[in-house]
Amino acid sequence: MNETPISGLHVIDHPLVAHKLTQMRRVETPSGQFRSLLTEISLLLAYEVTRDLELRDVRITTPMTESDQPELVEDPVVVSILRAGNGLLDGVLQVIPSARVGHVGLYRDHETLEAVEYYCKFPPLKGRTIIVVDPMLATGNSAAAALDRVKLDGPASIRFLCLLAAPEGIEALQAAHPDVAIWTASVDECLNEVGYIVPGLGDAGDRIFGTT
Ligand code: URA
Repeated sequence: MNETPISGLHVIDHPLVAHKLTQMRRVETPSGQFRSLLTEISLLLAYEVTRDLELRDVRITTPMTESDQPELVEDPVVVSILRAGNGLLDGVLQVIPSARVGHVGLYRDHETLEAVEYYCKFPPLKGRTIIVVDPMLATGNSAAAALDRVKLDGPASIRFLCLLAAPEGIEALQAAHPDVAIWTASVDECLNEVGYIVPGLGDAGDRIFGTT
């Protein structure tokens, strides 16, 4: 994984991630294949975002002997920003199957580009490590609003996992939540005039669910 000069930003530059991302960006990639690629890529992203989770040694018995071996102190809680976040959730939960999951629903007001909350259901977050997932970090408005909501429940720490990030979104999110590290597979060029990431991959939710 490449540590970029921007503190708190982790760009995951694995060749398989880059290859799958290119297939996802192609306009001709159909929804079913887009979904499968997103699940595959999210397994790899989940591997990186969980790299420094805390371990403790436990005494176990193997078929050969007793031994002290590491296991996770606790599972992180995964929070999906609806609806595109659910596309990342599948792969993340394959890697951390016992993680508990929260959902927060935010829609983007197309005129102001501000995030408006319409749904929220979380497991207990107090004192926990939270991974907030959303494929696209565009303006940063939804991400910042989701993190505001998560913080109300008193988690110990939060990481934000996305597939693509615009420089504008990174800047906005880091300004609003400097304590939250960001993991992404790519930092793209910019946002266009209606808040889409360029070159990007289009509307992630539409491409996942075939609603284009
Ligand atoms: N949301 C998307 O799905 N795509 C973008 O490019 C920006 C926000």
